[in-house]
Amino acid sequence: MGPVGRERPKGLLVTCLCSAQRTKWGAGVGVYRQTVVDLDATEEQAEEWGGRGWRWLLDEGFIRAEPWRGDVVHLGGPNWREAVDLAAWDWRARAEGFDPEPCGAVELITGRTVFLAGPYDPPSAICPHCGNATADWPMAAVDAWHSTGAAAFSCRTCAREVPLPDWTWTDDYFAFAHVGFQFEDWPRLSPAFTTAFAEALGHRVRFLHGTW
Ligand SMILES: [Zn+2]
Repeated sequence: MGPVGRERPKGLLVTCLCSAQRTKWGAGVGVYRQTVVDLDATEEQAEEWGGRGWRWLLDEGFIRAEPWRGDVVHLGGPNWREAVDLAAWDWRARAEGFDPEPCGAVELITGRTVFLAGPYDPPSAICPHCGNATADWPMAAVDAWHSTGAAAFSCRTCAREVPLPDWTWTDDYFAFAHVGFQFEDWPRLSPAFTTAFAEALGHRVRFLHGTW
């Protein structure tokens, strides 16, 4: 169930709405990537919790395994519609007799990872203690966390030193974590789905999404 790489399984599916979906989101090109990040799994727990979440996705029928070029890729399962906000998706997805499915794969990412919503401007950091937002935070902390798994910086308002993973970010831009479930070119995942996913994991999650 390892990552299948960046190459996407184009041509595997007969019915695919990627292009319509991208146009609708105004992206034109690129991949619409949504990632449900487990905020609580430690580096040591990554494989276990990644496997737990992955089994839940399979057991609930949200994803299915599909052979592809000698490997296995994971695509929308029989219940994928229950994971997404169909109302906001392409109208053809709801048309009778038409059976589209998300065209992109789902991947499990484990290990120390700086998850990003997308290639956008740097966000503001929001202190978990006082709620103050600052755009003037040290980018070096991101590099330090990526290198060592530990970094912190002090809030300019309440002066507390806060570990990097404990900050929140405008537009849920960052997550510094060890397990992520990445959906490429799926319809927007619903809040009910991410809530249920968090309950299945028994951990807090953060939902990141953006077009790359
Ligand atoms: Zn503060």
